[in-house]
Amino acid sequence: MKLSQTPITQHRFEGYSFFLKRDDQLHPHFSGNKARKLMALLELEDKGVTHLIGYGSPQANSLLSLAALAKMKDWQLEFYVDRIPDWLKDNPIGNYRIALELGAEVIAVSALTDEPIHPHDYIHANRLGEGCLYVPEGGRSPIAERGVATLAKEILEWVQSNHMDNVCVALPSGTGTTALFLHKHLKAHGIEVLTCPCVGGKDYLVEQFRELGETCFPAVLETPSKHHFGKLYRQDYQIWKALLEQTGVEFDLLYDPLMWRCLSEWLLVNKNKTLLYIHQGGIIGNESMLPRYQRKYGE
Ligand SMILES: *Cc1c(COP(=O)(O)O)cnc(C)c1O
Repeated sequence: MKLSQTPITQHRFEGYSFFLKRDDQLHPHFSGNKARKLMALLELEDKGVTHLIGYGSPQANSLLSLAALAKMKDWQLEFYVDRIPDWLKDNPIGNYRIALELGAEVIAVSALTDEPIHPHDYIHANRLGEGCLYVPEGGRSPIAERGVATLAKEILEWVQSNHMDNVCVALPSGTGTTALFLHKHLKAHGIEVLTCPCVGGKDYLVEQFRELGETCFPAVLETPSKHHFGKLYRQDYQIWKALLEQTGVEFDLLYDPLMWRCLSEWLLVNKNKTLLYIHQGGIIGNESMLPRYQRKYGE
């Protein structure tokens, strides 16, 4: 099983040439940036661990990657969520569906106690004991640096062996962990990293960068209008479909459309740059996002 050295392919979008790092092809279930961020745990040799503990949304890409990691390591994943909507419980779909197939336990905190308690607080009060390995939401942790540094190394090797100039690496941010550590490992080599905030705005993203203990940050692009995570936007759907038609590559529907909307402005004034886009996976999540879009805006 090859869990590094993903290919880099070349495409055209709206007349612009760009390169694409195919981290969506790392592994069918342990893929994208969640796999990079969790790679240190895959390599961990600790016989004492029996349970992997995480939390987030029952539809999260991180749920799927944690489930795949637990399966490979023979750990039991306990993934805490606020609640599981009835429609999802009745018809499991996307990341939730496959995580269950991989043996994950998805636990609704609302069903465990009558007190309103955040999954994070529930875990800290009850599930940090012996044999438990805890991963913060979205893999937002210094442990992510090692796997992301490997990604940076692969990018650098590609840049050097192909004699690429003026390379800009672009990737959308949730927690910003991937963009931050990529920037940290590429800046000394003159490779710029660009990102955009998909959760909250620029200030919130910079705050998240700071909390990871760094002081030098990647460049942050923004769209003029406010964007709420997980909400549907006609422009997001349009650019996602245009990308699929023109490149033949399926991008993720939660993060990628916003980065591409920022990039379509950026490309107009950066024609001399070599764009390398990081495909961070998330395709299984489209199984639930795409029907939502199709219901709202048609095929
Ligand atoms: C999690 C995720 C992101 C955001 O990654 P961060 O490291 O939290 O910024 C972007 N794209 C996809 C497809 C993801 O699954």
